Amino acid sequence: MTPREVIQKKRDGGVLTRDEIASFIRGYMTSQIPDYQLSAWLMAVYFSGMTLEETLTLTREMRDSGAVLDHSSISGRKIDKHSTGGVGDKTSMLVAPIAAACGVTVPMITGRALGHTGGTLDKLESIPGFNAKPSPEKIVEMLRTTGAVIMGQTEDLAPADRRIYALRDVTATIESIPLITASILSKKLAAGTDGLVMDVKTGRGAFMPTLKMARALARSLVDVCRAMKTKIVVVITDMEQPLGRAIGNALEIRECIEFLDGKTPKDLETVSITLAAQMIRLAGKARSIEQASKLAYESVSSGKAGIRFREIIRAQGGDQRVIDDPGILPKAAHVQEFRSPASGFVTRCDAKLLGLASNALGAGRNRMDDIIDPAVGLYLEKKLGDRVARDDVLCQIHWNDGDRQSNALPLIKQAFEIKARPERSRPLIHGALEG
Ligand code: URA
Repeated sequence: MTPREVIQKKRDGGVLTRDEIASFIRGYMTSQIPDYQLSAWLMAVYFSGMTLEETLTLTREMRDSGAVLDHSSISGRKIDKHSTGGVGDKTSMLVAPIAAACGVTVPMITGRALGHTGGTLDKLESIPGFNAKPSPEKIVEMLRTTGAVIMGQTEDLAPADRRIYALRDVTATIESIPLITASILSKKLAAGTDGLVMDVKTGRGAFMPTLKMARALARSLVDVCRAMKTKIVVVITDMEQPLGRAIGNALEIRECIEFLDGKTPKDLETVSITLAAQMIRLAGKARSIEQASKLAYESVSSGKAGIRFREIIRAQGGDQRVIDDPGILPKAAHVQEFRSPASGFVTRCDAKLLGLASNALGAGRNRMDDIIDPAVGLYLEKKLGDRVARDDVLCQIHWNDGDRQSNALPLIKQAFEIKARPERSRPLIHGALEG
């Protein structure tokens, strides 16, 4: 079949064979198929979907487009955690040290900010000296000693995902369940993990805004992992409002340090402990989720998780003094209070708009090559359901550039809604699925 016929078959709702998918992806990676044909194919997949067998083939092809790591020489189960992307979501930086402190080996591959969502690597790089690309030898050494490494996707790990993701980003084909499934799992499976805990976000600030879509993605991830004989737990968590209080790179690092020091916003604690507990259980370090949660809590309260975070930062070249003195993190020149226009209750604290506002300030990217400002962002003083009086501070705006601040303000205004009566609160954890 020619590339044109493969596109046409998918466009018309056909089911592609293994060979058709394999030759299409390989053709793209060897530059025999140009961007415009892959873009058309991605749009056809977006509208026509894929069967489980097709998604499985696509995942395998993307995984095998580069190196597939083998960490079998390191004892114990290697467990990673991944999120579909959120606002204020700093859980990766918390669950890695928590799980490592409980004996789990965590080779964590993580990403950069894109769209309205933040990226763990950008957050960590606001720590002076932090190296998100440790050498292969260093990775193995860290897994053996600190028990965790938090790194970026290397050039040779699932390169097909990197190239296809960039095209999806500019062709409006991100929000497709089979494409997201193959994108996430190809790199996780290439990184040599034995098990994966997935945080699928749902709500205004998520790629899967409805619970129905989030459940469908969870099902797809579980089905592909089961067929690949890889353990997975998918937890569906809420992203109606940002997680925790800080949005923006250095601000989020500061919130993580405070968390590991015992000052924990409840929502961030619930999601982080739930995910870490699933990692601990998948690694076989606890018999039940209750026991795993207890271990996770203890690792924070005893200070062991904080020590691991310090070790991870030091091992990856970062200035570990940030743990004792977060004041050395980059700071914005201006901090402005954004006040409530009325008295009542916060009924909207829109994760997407606040993510876009933080982006407008310079904390995120619109294009992969945009340079981010590590110091800027937002700090939420009030969240959904909170009672407010007129002129109470809703959030602090940390900004450096006046034009950017003017662009962010209307988004922040629109993000909040204050009504006389509170609305019914949404659950933070919407469910879990295991494969
Ligand atoms: N995260 C990924 O890694 N890939 C997607 O397609 C969406 C979220």
